[in-house]
Amino acid sequence: MIIKTKKEILLHLLFLSILLYGCSSSSLPKFDGEKAFAYLSEQCQFGPRYPGSAGHDRTRKYLLDKLSFQTNLVKTQDFVYFDQSQKVKLELTNIISSFYPEKKERVLLSAHWDTRPLADQDPDTAMRSKPVLGANDGASGVAVLLEIARIISQRKPKWGMDIVFFDGEDWGSEDDLDKFCLGSKYFAENKGGYQPKFGILLDMVGDKELTFYQEGYSSTYAKEIVDLVWSRAKSLGLACFKDSVKHFVYDDHLPLLSAGIPCIDLIDFDYPYWHTTQDTPDKCSPESLQKIGDLLIEILYR
Ligand code: ZN
Repeated sequence: MIIKTKKEILLHLLFLSILLYGCSSSSLPKFDGEKAFAYLSEQCQFGPRYPGSAGHDRTRKYLLDKLSFQTNLVKTQDFVYFDQSQKVKLELTNIISSFYPEKKERVLLSAHWDTRPLADQDPDTAMRSKPVLGANDGASGVAVLLEIARIISQRKPKWGMDIVFFDGEDWGSEDDLDKFCLGSKYFAENKGGYQPKFGILLDMVGDKELTFYQEGYSSTYAKEIVDLVWSRAKSLGLACFKDSVKHFVYDDHLPLLSAGIPCIDLIDFDYPYWHTTQDTPDKCSPESLQKIGDLLIEILYR
């Protein structure tokens, strides 16, 4: 038995706390914004990715390939949607990947992987019948989550994780909201007993000029999650996060909220190229993806 003086014990405790603090602050996994941006560019190289397009087929395969490297728990949720007014049958696929299935307490991260068939907000009316490339609106959220999938496959976060890529988010029109969010509606209707602790939806997170206001429905129905995310953004010094509500956005979080899953929409809706043919990779940046990646790491690991 070694008898220590009070001073020795205090010094020992000080040394231990420095060691522990050092570990906890420096050992968070590193998100690679450049890698995420490469995923964004790769998706855009497939061209527009609306249901029924060649790009949609290729992206479906690409995502399955990419995720299969990170987990053997990748599954597809295939379903058909019949668009009555256009008399067209859409073959849609939600792509679901899971990590650490033994963990009962789970967190859901999601993004939509389809893109919009029509650039109906294009300033040039001649371009409004063209499809959107969806660098920000589609590819950016998926890109961040592909990089997050790589990280969580290597190191266990605080919770079990499910990453879901929704299809058919952007099929709707302003006068027919029912045709938006087809994938998340199908997912919510078929969730069975799935009840994650919370969810975060990423949509349009790649804008070079990044600004996040709190989304209205999120702030109304999942305030604790908004507070959690915003407080972590503050602790990282992310000035692009603003403390007020600006937009109410009809997005994939709404079917989840209706099904009792507390989920927020992290969306930069002040994007001048939204639903235009100008939504291309040059409007996005690795630095913006890095910010969102760092924020997710902070939430999942600290
Ligand atoms: Zn959209």
